[in-house]
Amino acid sequence: MFSLLAATPAPKASTASNVPSQAAKMAGPTAAQLQAAERLVGPALTEGHAWARLTELTDGIGPRLSGSEGAEAAVQWALRSFKADGVKAWLEPVKVPHWVRGEERAELLTSERFRGRPLQVMALGGSAATPPEGITAEVVEVSSLEELAALGDRVKGRIVFFSHDMKVAEDYGRFAALRGRGPSVAAKAGAAGALVRSLATASLSTPHTGSTRFEDGVTPIPAASVTVEDAGLLHRLLAEGGPVRVRLVLGCKELPEVDSFNVVAEVRGRERPGEIVLIGAHLDSWDVGTGAHDDGAGVVMVMEAARLLARQKPAPRRTVRVVLFMNEENGLRGARAYAQAHAAELPRHVAAMEMDSGGGRPLGVQLRAGEGAPELVRPWLSPLVALSAGTILPGEAGGADLSPLVPARVPMFGVRTDASRYFDVHHTHADTLDKVEPEALAKSTAAVAWMTYVMAEMPGLLVRPSAPPTAPSLTAPPSLGRPPVPGAPPAGAGNVKSSDR
Ligand SMILES: [Zn+2]
Repeated sequence: MFSLLAATPAPKASTASNVPSQAAKMAGPTAAQLQAAERLVGPALTEGHAWARLTELTDGIGPRLSGSEGAEAAVQWALRSFKADGVKAWLEPVKVPHWVRGEERAELLTSERFRGRPLQVMALGGSAATPPEGITAEVVEVSSLEELAALGDRVKGRIVFFSHDMKVAEDYGRFAALRGRGPSVAAKAGAAGALVRSLATASLSTPHTGSTRFEDGVTPIPAASVTVEDAGLLHRLLAEGGPVRVRLVLGCKELPEVDSFNVVAEVRGRERPGEIVLIGAHLDSWDVGTGAHDDGAGVVMVMEAARLLARQKPAPRRTVRVVLFMNEENGLRGARAYAQAHAAELPRHVAAMEMDSGGGRPLGVQLRAGEGAPELVRPWLSPLVALSAGTILPGEAGGADLSPLVPARVPMFGVRTDASRYFDVHHTHADTLDKVEPEALAKSTAAVAWMTYVMAEMPGLLVRPSAPPTAPSLTAPPSLGRPPVPGAPPAGAGNVKSSDR
């Protein structure tokens, strides 16, 4: 038994009914509902089930970029695992891109001193290949898209080097457009290639990949990330007056699209089964590392929440639906397919959460809803106090895979996790199980399970947020139009992402 409820105020009388009174809507959990907290938080903290599942997914299956064998294996694993957990699950079809990495290397040809010195690079997802012998060109440095535009013709035939000074996780949103859109803008201006300083908060000579998107009508060019260390060297050499020439060899390929799936699971509500609380994470990862933080951690958190909720008697009032989205990293096809297939149901989606900021410890709760949401939710946060997550934090809940639900005004909630070290390993070979702390994962899993229960059980509903001024364009480049960037944690004040994945 846990003393999680020590800080809990005296339970209020249960007034749950189909038509709750205003007072009931604003009340906190009843004694019976607080017992559910013990049954959710306790096992999440002690049973190690989420950790075991993360081990299976990362060590057992490994990388799972859309279209790959790993992605297909992950789909089958998730379906099997839900069933083993006693949770009803099924597959929903999604057509996904199938980009594959090939040979990748670069070298400096600057001067006798540096001739042949290798640069650590990694192709960006969506990059074009170079000819087998590579491209050799002079490097021109920019630190913003505006600076690139100002260069005009001087970009032609060059390799554009996108430099920035990302230091902390909160910088990600500011600089992600350099990776997401920069190469397309450079291609349009006639560049031969692009190098982007890795979006990272730490580096031991580790390049960070990520998606880049070429605008329709723009012929893709070779585009790669370069380590923070090598970006620093390029910057210094250019500052000394250059010229700096680089040879870049990339063997990546865009293969035909592949049939894949979102994995969907459900715990049916006892009283209002037509009202849906969606909790999601993305099942795909990059092809490097094993996607332990991004987004294996989110996947096992929501799977564990479903397992624990399926054991509750009585079941929560509303239906909890888990969606493991495919192709968040390089397309958001799963997110769009879900929104399309369930369009008629979206008005009955009463709350949605996406966990996609890694497996760090929980810091608190975020919301994106109409008026009165904090007042409605706050009385239910007492079970999170012992997890040091019992407060509502500034900033908005959301997530790249939830962005297609924004026009339908689906209220959003989220457990914000500590992402301060997330971008040390994000999209690298180093995003592996050993980077996840079991205790932090267990705590965040507990918080996710409880908050999901709260949304499915509380008598009142979150008021739907107002419609966005203009519906976010789903065809806009990943770095611009989408509220959150794919591959990035959700938007929010003090949170990691603001505009790019
Ligand atoms: Zn992610």
